[in-house]
Amino acid sequence: MADVIPGERLERVRNDVREAAERSGRDPDAVEILPVTKGHPASVVRAVAETDLGRVAENRVGEAEEKLEEVGRLGLEWHMVGHLQRNKAARAVQVFDVIESVDSRRLARKLDREARKAGREHLEVLCQVNTSGEESKGGFPVAEDEEEALAGVAEVCEQERLHVRGLMTMAPLTDEESVLRETFRVCRRFGRRCGQEIVGFESDVLSMGMSNDFEIAVEEGSTRLRLGTALLGERP
Ligand SMILES: *Cc1c(COP(=O)(O)O)cnc(C)c1O
Repeated sequence: MADVIPGERLERVRNDVREAAERSGRDPDAVEILPVTKGHPASVVRAVAETDLGRVAENRVGEAEEKLEEVGRLGLEWHMVGHLQRNKAARAVQVFDVIESVDSRRLARKLDREARKAGREHLEVLCQVNTSGEESKGGFPVAEDEEEALAGVAEVCEQERLHVRGLMTMAPLTDEESVLRETFRVCRRFGRRCGQEIVGFESDVLSMGMSNDFEIAVEEGSTRLRLGTALLGERP
């Protein structure tokens, strides 16, 4: 267990984050690392709990439930980062501390209702935004129709029980640095705009950057990296 996250690997990622932050004049401590344990057994969640990372992310409700059953919450903050179907919103509210993948107004309204039913005063969420224009990606359509995206995020912020902390985006699957960089820039700019134009929007979290693009994401202002492979190795 001790070497599921070899200290070495975490060290290396932290080093890369620090260097990327320094290159862009940012404070490395302003960048959180969120380990994504999807596809890994519950023992990996336990290994994460032995580090000082303090949080864990899954992309499916059922898989998170299974792991919780096996190892419990372990004092970690549980994040949902995958597409959430509305018919699983009630379960998600039971399982997750933070939902990073609020990608539609209907889902936001549903989560608000379920939080109320569950007696949860505040459910912390991020609005997922599509900043690449790829059809396969979910999220409010910043690349396609920024005004619609702005109105969508504003409606999420209107939900009484949802506490919107910022934005989440996924870059396209490509090695083209300029494309990745532009996707992250669009997200950061949109976050700034939301902060200026939407009451109740706190633009402090930008969840962007995965294993193959996290250094660019740091350079472009990410405050939270969602890392699977780079931190935990290939999914079995
Ligand atoms: C799987 C996943 C990640 C992590 O992916 P890696 O490339 O393994 O780092 C991050 N974000 C989301 C939404 C994911 O589904």
